[in-house]
Amino acid sequence: MSTPSKPLVTRERLSEVRYEIRGELARRARELEAQGRKLIKLNIGNPGAFGFRAPEHLQRAIADDMGRTDPYTHQQGLPVAREAIAAAYARRGVPDAVADRVFLGNGVSELIDLSLRALLNPGDEVLVPSPDYPLWSAATILNDGRPVYYRCRPENGFLPDPVEMETLVSSRTRAIVLINPNNPAGASYPRELLEKIVAIARKHNLLLLVDEIYDQILYDGAQFQPVAPLAGDHPCLTFSGLSKVHRACGWRVGWMLLSGASERLGEFRAALDLLSALRLCANVPGQYAIEAAVSGPDTISPLCSPGGRLYETRRAVIEACEASEHLSLVVPSGALYAFPAVIGPAAQGFDDHDFALQLMEEEGVLVVPGSSFNVPYRNHFRVTLLPEASVMREVFGRIDKLLARRAEA
Ligand code: PLP
Repeated sequence: MSTPSKPLVTRERLSEVRYEIRGELARRARELEAQGRKLIKLNIGNPGAFGFRAPEHLQRAIADDMGRTDPYTHQQGLPVAREAIAAAYARRGVPDAVADRVFLGNGVSELIDLSLRALLNPGDEVLVPSPDYPLWSAATILNDGRPVYYRCRPENGFLPDPVEMETLVSSRTRAIVLINPNNPAGASYPRELLEKIVAIARKHNLLLLVDEIYDQILYDGAQFQPVAPLAGDHPCLTFSGLSKVHRACGWRVGWMLLSGASERLGEFRAALDLLSALRLCANVPGQYAIEAAVSGPDTISPLCSPGGRLYETRRAVIEACEASEHLSLVVPSGALYAFPAVIGPAAQGFDDHDFALQLMEEEGVLVVPGSSFNVPYRNHFRVTLLPEASVMREVFGRIDKLLARRAEA
C-alpha cells in the first residue's frame, strides 16, 4: 500500500528571497504572449534579446575550440584565460593580480553565491546598496546572512553616504558590497567616495565584494575607478565577465579576482578553492573567449559614445523624461539601465507593481518595479537601455499616456 504523498516543503528562507526581474510580471508577460499579444519587454539586461551579438573575435575564439576534446578544466578555470584576466587587472594597478587568484564561473551570478557561501556564518551581516542588483540580497539570505542596506538616495545621484554607511557596521558585519557602475540606477562612483568606503572596510576588517560587471559601460566621459587598486593589501574580490561589456550573457562566463595580502585572507582563499572544486569547473567553451575579450579591441566604447546605439537610446530616455511632467530621472552615467521616478499628481497613491502590471496589460510594455531593487519607496521603475532609440521613444510615449490617465483619475 502506498503512503499518502505529502506536498514537498522547501527551504524556509526562500520566502524572504525575491527576484522580480524574472518574477510574476514576467510570467504574466508570457501568458499574454501566448495569447498573441506583442509586448516590448524591457525587464532584463539581455543584449542578445535586442539584436546584439558578441564581437566576432570572441565568436571565433569559441568556434576554434569546438571539436577539441572537452575535459573539465582546473576548478578555477583555464590557465590561459586566468592569465589574461590577471594581466588585465595588473594593467589597472591591482597588486598581486596573478592567475592563481582568478576564479572563473558560470556568470558572475554563480560566483556571487559561491563567495558568500565561503564567507558567511548564520546571522552574519553584509552591507548591500539600496537599490541593489537583487541577487546580492538573495545570495546573502540563502547563505544564512542578513543584508543590511546602505541608502543610495536619488537626491544624492544614487551615491552612498559613507558616514551613514559606517553607522550600519555592527559586530556581525563581514563585508561591503559595491556595484559600480550601478544596476539599476546607473551611478558610477568617484574615486574619493570609493577611498572613503575602502577606509571603512579597513577600519572594521570587512571584505570588499565589488561587482564591476559594467566597468566599461560609461557615458558622457564618466571615469571608472576600480576598487581593488585602492584597497591594496586589504582583502577584496572583484567580479566581472562577458555578459554585458562583451554582450555574451548566454555564454555564462564570469570571473572574480581575489586581491589583498595573503596573510590577511585567512581561510577564505582555501574556502574558494573548495567550493570551486565542488562545482568542478565553469562552462569550458565560454572560457576560450576570455583571452580574446580581455586582450582584444574595445568594442563597447563606440556603442556608448554619440551616434552609438546605447548612447542614443539613453539620450531618448533622458529627453523623454525631461519632456514629461510625470517623470524625473537621475541621468545614468554607466551600465545598461534607467531608473526613473514617477512624480506629481500621477504619483499620488502610486504603487510600482500595480503600475507595472497596468502598463503591461494596457500599453504592452514590461518594466521592473523599483521596489524589486530593495528600496523603501515605490515610485520608481527600471528599463534596460538595450533597445533602439525609436523603440524607447515609443515606450516612453506609452508610459506618459498611462501616467496622464492616472493623474486625471
Ligand atoms: N551583477 C550585476 C550588477 C548584474 O546586473 C548582473 C546581471 O544583470 C549580474 C551580476 C549577473 O551577471 P552574469 O550574467 O555574469 O551572471
